Amino acid sequence: MAYDDQNIFAKILRGELPAIKVYEDDQVLAFMDIMPQADGHTLVIPKSPAETLMDLDPKAATYTIQIVQKVAKAIEKALDAKGIVLMQLSGAAAGQTVPHVHFHLIPSSVHDLGKHAVQMGDQEKIKALAEKIKAAL
Ligand code: AMP
Repeated sequence: MAYDDQNIFAKILRGELPAIKVYEDDQVLAFMDIMPQADGHTLVIPKSPAETLMDLDPKAATYTIQIVQKVAKAIEKALDAKGIVLMQLSGAAAGQTVPHVHFHLIPSSVHDLGKHAVQMGDQEKIKALAEKIKAAL
């Protein structure tokens, strides 16, 4: 399917919508999920326009996963996470709600995850968690 450049993450990338950012370079952005499934739920997205993992250029995928690892290490350190769930939903049939490819990093157990994209988190708490993660990067 053609990439929809009006999706929420495309707007965040263009600076048209706010985000609580923890990491950014010329190819990748990492920011806090506003409806976290656990404290510290972070999203890592490539800047290239791709809807699903299958659409993503392999070189962009390779670079993005390196940043996923970097951010995961920061979450582990900053939040003393004992485990991190890495989740990637490709396609509405898998539950993907934002059509720009992204990787979820959720410091939690798969058995304890909150509901997906349902409940808005406390913005001040999310900002404080973001500061901790940023400091550990
Ligand atoms: P997915 O369903 O895999 O496409 O995941 C999309 C994620 O984006 C969900 O976990 C939502 O909570 C999250 N989300 C939606 N809108 C925003 C936003 N404006 N800023 C940060 N996260 C968002």
